[in-house]
Amino acid sequence: MERGGTLARRARAPWLHSAGVADSQAHCGRGARGCPGAACSAGSRPVAGSLAPVTLRLYDTAARGLREFVPLTPGEVGIYVCGATVQSSPHIGHMRSVVAFDVLARWLGRSGLRVTMIRNVTDIDDKILAKAAAAGEPWWAWAMTHEREFRDAYDALGVLRPSYEPRATGHVPEMVELIEQLVARGHAYGVADGSVYFDVRSFPEYGALTRQRLEDLSPADDGELAGKRDPRDFALWKASKPDEPATASWSTPFGRGRPGWHLECSAMAERYLGDTFDIHGGGLDLRFPHHENEVAQSRAAGRGFARYWLHHGWVTQSGKKMSKSLGNSLLVSAILEHTHPVVLRYVLTAAHYRSMIEYSDDTLREGQAIWERLAGFVSRASERVGALNAAQVAAAELPAPFVDAMDDDLNVPAALAVVHEHVRTGNTALADADATETRAALLAVRAMLDVLGLDPGASPWVGVGADDRAGAALDALVSAELDARAAARTARDFSTADAIRDRLARAGVLVEDATDGVRWSLASEQEGTS
Ligand SMILES: [Zn+2]
Repeated sequence: MERGGTLARRARAPWLHSAGVADSQAHCGRGARGCPGAACSAGSRPVAGSLAPVTLRLYDTAARGLREFVPLTPGEVGIYVCGATVQSSPHIGHMRSVVAFDVLARWLGRSGLRVTMIRNVTDIDDKILAKAAAAGEPWWAWAMTHEREFRDAYDALGVLRPSYEPRATGHVPEMVELIEQLVARGHAYGVADGSVYFDVRSFPEYGALTRQRLEDLSPADDGELAGKRDPRDFALWKASKPDEPATASWSTPFGRGRPGWHLECSAMAERYLGDTFDIHGGGLDLRFPHHENEVAQSRAAGRGFARYWLHHGWVTQSGKKMSKSLGNSLLVSAILEHTHPVVLRYVLTAAHYRSMIEYSDDTLREGQAIWERLAGFVSRASERVGALNAAQVAAAELPAPFVDAMDDDLNVPAALAVVHEHVRTGNTALADADATETRAALLAVRAMLDVLGLDPGASPWVGVGADDRAGAALDALVSAELDARAAARTARDFSTADAIRDRLARAGVLVEDATDGVRWSLASEQEGTS
């Protein structure tokens, strides 16, 4: 979370405006939901005491239903999201997760809460060790290479940076402490090789998160069975194996080894958010065994752990969960070669976070068309009535139907319908040369899109897909150069043709002669403009 950004959104709570409805209404007369907060003459600092009305409802997987969201500490919210296992390059499915929780964090922030977002990096596990070994690289270099790729992809999609991104390898002492407590409480046991397992039969609540009975569960899929009291017991700590690099193990009271996957999240969530915190998020596929095991570890150790469980849907192709095995075309790097990041962001944002996104080339084409419509309006309206600054957008009152939609378990499709309505109104106002209405629509549209991380008038999306006159002018100039080059070649004046090509190269324009004609592109920063 970029702190500045979060704090700038504070105290504009459409809900949770604090001090109760009566007080808020008495001041600004709009009620808590419509109160513009920072711009409210009533003053915007949350007042201690009652926090009614709280109207945000979130679907809590543990409760199997919508629950009113009430933060543990008034005015604050702690969120833990299971981040990437940095074993390979990010694909579109990974981006679904970060975008879903980015919208949640933005909405909570816009609602006046101080958001602490923790998203971990799993930088050691079986797959990382195996893939690094196959590639002949140290596992830690392999993990770091992919961690950077993930971060670049998150940044490209305009995802706000979390408050902190703890790595598993940096939290072994916390894990050891938690394991020792579990052993002392009779919920975990060590075996001869130095591994430590969680004893699922010692914890009657095991299976409660996913409502499964212990006797129906399959053996834990952690590769080892030796010494387990029950095949469903799962590894808290994995003893190092002779064929694993020495750097992949840590010395502990149980012997040299490395973390079990589930344990790291329990340990890191507690370190940064406390033993009880507000929201835990992740993909649907993480419900079991990962989240079930996290709950078991933390609660068996006496912690309260997460109060709300949010799970997002997948990106699917032909109805199947998208995974790397479906091909490299789904890598973020491959998609961004032909699609602007904001279009991918739009596509991932536009669906309800709990629904599946069926992905195809049409998905991106449709996203592109809608984005151009939104950006086009913002561009034309700004030209007509003047650009708005970030403070104006942040302080704007959000349309009530938009607030209602977002409060309804982050119903982004319904919220976007409100955005489109305002774009229609705004376009009509533009056609009628009605500056007042145009400005009102521009402000509302930008404020709503800002909540979704899609404001065309703000960084990093300014000018993308809008009125690209600079691009059109460049295209015309380069085309004229290429025409002159073609004429020179026809006249067999190769020195002139080469000079034109070199001139373009110096300007950072790469020319490529293909069988079907000449193509040009801008050189990447690395290629430079010499
Ligand atoms: Zn986790």
